[in-house]
Amino acid sequence: MLLTIDQLTKSFGGLTAVQNVSASIERGTITAVIGPNGAGKSTFFNLISGFHLPSSGNVIYKGEDISRLKADKIARLGVGRTFQTTHLFEQATVLDNVLIGHRLRTKAGLFDAIFRTKREKLEQKKCLQKAEEVLEFVGASSIAYAPISAITQEQQKRVAFALALATDPELVLLDEPAAGVNPDETEGLAELMKKMVNHGKTVCLIEHKMPMVMSLADHIIVLNHGQKIAEGKPNDIKNDENVINAYLGG
Ligand code: ADP
Ligand code: MG
Repeated sequence: MLLTIDQLTKSFGGLTAVQNVSASIERGTITAVIGPNGAGKSTFFNLISGFHLPSSGNVIYKGEDISRLKADKIARLGVGRTFQTTHLFEQATVLDNVLIGHRLRTKAGLFDAIFRTKREKLEQKKCLQKAEEVLEFVGASSIAYAPISAITQEQQKRVAFALALATDPELVLLDEPAAGVNPDETEGLAELMKKMVNHGKTVCLIEHKMPMVMSLADHIIVLNHGQKIAEGKPNDIKNDENVINAYLGG
């Protein structure tokens, strides 16, 4: 298993957003995390990626316990992510967003940036190459010099993917990657996720669009009120009584 989650719990004051969730993610697969609003899906991603400290439980990535490591360290170990609401600088270009995002995520070269050493120049060149490479991969090369404010929602989603890929992750966590885009564009983003897997990535996405989840996911984890209520293949999940009740009953 690439990632194993053991009895993970996160409480915010009196509210338990994620409760005793155990699950695992197999290399080279697409896993979908689904569940009603407020089920704890984004919190689950925040726990894996180090944006929240678990109240209890563990996250094991490639055999290493990463549950209490900082987000930038986890990014460097190979876990990339996007956010439910895109964190992009509206006035900056697509390319600059990837460059800035890469730096913020890894905290690489902060001192170098101040001292402007030769090494820094080399690093900058490497970062630029990487940014161009990931923009090409997500199909956003032609908009590299456009400001974020001038591109579509779907293009912004692609840029967010590029940001996640810039640190060369093996595991990519995508929080609602197709929210707010039309069906044709959704299909394009699904193709892009398959392409990631074909290039050696393991994908885990949170998604509400059921047709997409059903056709894309190898494995589905269902959360409701912070608890895992079901998991399995799309066909098993479709007919699961607990899942149907969770969606109908709220
Ligand atoms: P989902 O992504 O499934 O819609 P979330 O993980 O965002 O759900 O939220 C799960 C629950 O945890 C919600 O009740 C939400 O209000 C709460 N929650 C999430 N983040 C925080 C936080 N930083 N502080 C307090 N409560 C939070
Ligand atoms: Mg969410």
